[in-house]
Amino acid sequence: MAQINKNYLKLPGSYLFSTIGKKVREYGEANPDAEIIRLGIGDVTQPIAPAIIEALHSAVDEMGSADTFKGYAPDLGYEFLRDVISEKDFKARGCNISSDEIFISDGAKCDCGNIQEIFGLDNKVAVCDPVYPVYVDSNVMSGRTGEYDATLERFKDVIYMPCLEENGFMPEIPTEVPDLIYLCFPNNPTGAVMKKADLQKWVDYANENDSIILYDAAYEAYISEEDVPHSIFECEGARNCAIEFRSFSKTAGFTGLRLGYTVIPKDLTTGGDELWPLWARRHGTKYNGAPYIVQKAGAAVYSEQGRKQIEEQIAYYMGNAKIILEGLKEAGYSVSGGVNAPYIWLKTPDNMTSWDFFDFLLEKANVVGTPGSGFGPHGEHFFRLTAFGNRENTIKAVERIKLL
Ligand SMILES: *Cc1c(COP(=O)(O)O)cnc(C)c1O
Repeated sequence: MAQINKNYLKLPGSYLFSTIGKKVREYGEANPDAEIIRLGIGDVTQPIAPAIIEALHSAVDEMGSADTFKGYAPDLGYEFLRDVISEKDFKARGCNISSDEIFISDGAKCDCGNIQEIFGLDNKVAVCDPVYPVYVDSNVMSGRTGEYDATLERFKDVIYMPCLEENGFMPEIPTEVPDLIYLCFPNNPTGAVMKKADLQKWVDYANENDSIILYDAAYEAYISEEDVPHSIFECEGARNCAIEFRSFSKTAGFTGLRLGYTVIPKDLTTGGDELWPLWARRHGTKYNGAPYIVQKAGAAVYSEQGRKQIEEQIAYYMGNAKIILEGLKEAGYSVSGGVNAPYIWLKTPDNMTSWDFFDFLLEKANVVGTPGSGFGPHGEHFFRLTAFGNRENTIKAVERIKLL
């Protein structure tokens, strides 16, 4: 008899976005005249920049001609893309990352979710709370987390690092030493960033304790302040303890096109074993690469025109972030994020639960956001708004919130 992977049954229902969808739909049906503004989504809204579209078109034409047609991509991805990534994302920032340490993929979510496969089941995992759910759920599926405690809303064998107002939404070094540490900065959902000196402490800690840091830098392009690292490899010693994930999704609007990459230094080892060959083997066995046309589009992100155009898009979103951040401050809210990340993290007024505030905002302002409790128990009494809407709606939403 075939048996299922029973670890999947440990996963508590993730009703966050379906519950939001249902509530918004019901409210819309009961109030057909309400003009609902959605600032809950974690998806970009601006179209792909012209320089990138041009690259896509020309790559499509190449596919239609026998002399330029491309079949399977090389295992790690096309060299033209890995070379430009190595130069512009790393060497230009003083990070010694070579092309063959870059694995092209179709996005950071799959890489963050799949990376745990190259690690043993006995590894102890540490995550921030609140957290991007992929890190925890992928470890649950593989059987690394123990049972779920519904009262605590936690898995028994996972180390949770609370990110609270008191610690500036920064994780603190846990008392129990983790083997794998997931960090994501700029952070989704809190919008918080880790300064270089603080990240260096984590790198030093990981090196001293033989831990591996799994660093999600999906929002790196939104960093506006000077002393915030774009890559964990800006820290000394990171090549000996870190793997980094990058995505073109939020950087260049590729959420629908799909492109990302993972960096594993060749000299990264644990217990004497190299990690690079394991990921190379997994990549080669279970994956056949991002499409040629999308990799071509990815390379165009680094062209002079492409770079300029995506910087304009990011500036547009960050203009929205500023409007939300300042508007909510004026309205008396306690807010953070929104400076180096497209997310604004606000404390609910009058100690309202995240879901009560969701209903309040939907009913009184017709604005949709995301309840913080959906990202973990320490997200309770917080709420996420995103800067990914259009300018007009963002302004309107903030005006409505101010009037509450
Ligand atoms: C959006 C996002 C990603 C990107 O995922 P893709 O699969 O590349 O679209 C990765 N990590 C976090 C935390 C995100 O919010």
